[in-house]
Amino acid sequence: MQDQPQPLVVLMEDDLIHAPKNPFCSIDPCCDCHTDQDLWAEVAQQVTNGLLTLEEATRLILGQQL
Ligand SMILES: [Zn+2]
Repeated sequence: MQDQPQPLVVLMEDDLIHAPKNPFCSIDPCCDCHTDQDLWAEVAQQVTNGLLTLEEATRLILGQQL
């Protein structure tokens, strides 16, 4: 048995964080997703379609849970 150090596991589960339903992650405020104009446009479209309120969209963009 060798005493090997455990590799540091960095939890960056992008697939879970950036889901189609929630393209903005909540763990990293500096992540590019929060400034992605395409994502903003998508959210704006959802507001236009009545799927999201403006308040919900803002919180989504800021990465806060609804
Ligand atoms: Zn992100």
